[in-house]
Amino acid sequence: MTTPVYQNFINGDFLKNQSGETFAVKNPATDEVIYHVEVADSFVQNAAIESAKQGFAVWSAMAPIERSRILLKAVALLRERNDLLAKIEVLDTGKPWQEAECVDVQTGADVIEYFAGLAPAQVGQQQMVGEDFYYTRKEPLGICAGIGAWNYPLQIACWKSGPALAAGNALIFKPSEETPLGAIKLAEIFTEAGVPAGVFNVVQGAAEVGQWLTHSPDIEKVSFTGEVGTGKKVVASAAGTLKDVTMELGGKSPLLVFEDADISQAVSAAMLGNFYTQGEICTNCTRIYVHKSVYQQFIDELKTRTEQNIVAGDPLDPSVNFGALISKNHHNLVMGYIEKGISEGATLLTGGKALRPESAPNGYFVAPTVFTDCTDDMTIVKEEIFGPVMSVLVFEDEDDVIRRANDTHLGLAAGVFTKDIKRAHRVIHQMQAGICWINSYGNSPAEMPVGGYKQSGIGRENGIETLDHYTQTKSIYVGMTDIESPF
Ligand code: NAD
Repeated sequence: MTTPVYQNFINGDFLKNQSGETFAVKNPATDEVIYHVEVADSFVQNAAIESAKQGFAVWSAMAPIERSRILLKAVALLRERNDLLAKIEVLDTGKPWQEAECVDVQTGADVIEYFAGLAPAQVGQQQMVGEDFYYTRKEPLGICAGIGAWNYPLQIACWKSGPALAAGNALIFKPSEETPLGAIKLAEIFTEAGVPAGVFNVVQGAAEVGQWLTHSPDIEKVSFTGEVGTGKKVVASAAGTLKDVTMELGGKSPLLVFEDADISQAVSAAMLGNFYTQGEICTNCTRIYVHKSVYQQFIDELKTRTEQNIVAGDPLDPSVNFGALISKNHHNLVMGYIEKGISEGATLLTGGKALRPESAPNGYFVAPTVFTDCTDDMTIVKEEIFGPVMSVLVFEDEDDVIRRANDTHLGLAAGVFTKDIKRAHRVIHQMQAGICWINSYGNSPAEMPVGGYKQSGIGRENGIETLDHYTQTKSIYVGMTDIESPF
């Protein structure tokens, strides 16, 4: 059976590459190749830049409200095609349909809608300086690049294109080579909605194509989502042309469960923050610190619910709530961490093995895994695993658990469960993390800025402030009086 071959999307249409080079994309739940994609060679790369220049000239000259109307049409198309797009995400990522159907497309559409709404509201300042005055304009940066991870492919493409396009920029987006199709579908939707050719181009490939984006002197900004190590390379490379950067990187986030917490709610949060999207979420609370007095109750309920309520299998089956990991390599990496947890002395409460569900026997499944008796120095407690592996730790003292929770070079997210309102705020204010939840975990609405402290990132996505990251301020001084000159 022949599988489809997708080309790069440049200047409002598909563009064939000249090298003929392609790569294969597999369905993680079946281990089968589902399609091929052409790599963006230098011919495609040059075309992407040339068309983005032309697209930018047209798009940035439009009134913001016109851009807004066009983006809102794209939002409507995204919602109309929810099921089609959600299915692409399921086949590309291995995540359950149950999630993709109500989260992936909708949270992407929400963000474009949010920034489309803000676009016409962006204003500059004006101030008198004696009889003269100055005013400022918020101008777009020019051509921006977006580089995406594989866990929420379409959502990431929307979260980067929403603010970039609303502010009047052109965006060249490179999805992860594991999950390249969603961005192409978004490009088709933008084109259909009336976004001018060249304003949103999609280039395909792995690290080399990403590196070209970070080097290119024609690109003003790189917004990157991925691993900390890759992020450092991107920042170093972007420094060569002093590009603006936004970095959305990895985490090893703590969840603190105090003795007065609603334990069932805290277990729900811990399960969501470790097993949703089979653990492949950057903000996951993979270090769960539980107060000694409720520790046993917490792990008893956690074990029961993990063993009874998680249904692994064919991700397209609507009753399945736990999918396959992205690739064989990643599967092996996660299994390696589990072996390390065991060898370093953690107690395996549940899981700890690969799964072969009857409906998807060849998929890259790892059982939802919980380690207890963990200590702060264990590898599974220190490193991001990006799979369904939870570490539970005990604490007794508030100050001590805050210190332990912050004792990491990462700072993406943090959570606290307690009924004591003063403690909730006191503790969360001391967390060195950019995204925090009190008696909740994981929600990330378009209105709320998200991003990391420490090595988890630079800059923010979503929320009003993100528009500032896609604009630059031009100050214009207006002389109303004669120039005073000594010459
Ligand atoms: P990754 O760093 O391996 O790859 C991310 C992207 O970078 C891919 O498109 C890849 O092709 C590209 N790339 C690789 N090398 C590059 C280079 N040298 N220059 C430019 N681009 C390059 O990450 P991944 O495995 O795709 O995603 C998982 C990681 O992403 C996890 O660490 C996770 O925490 C993080 N993540 C963070 C957020 C967030 O918002 N903070 C969201 C999702 C995922």
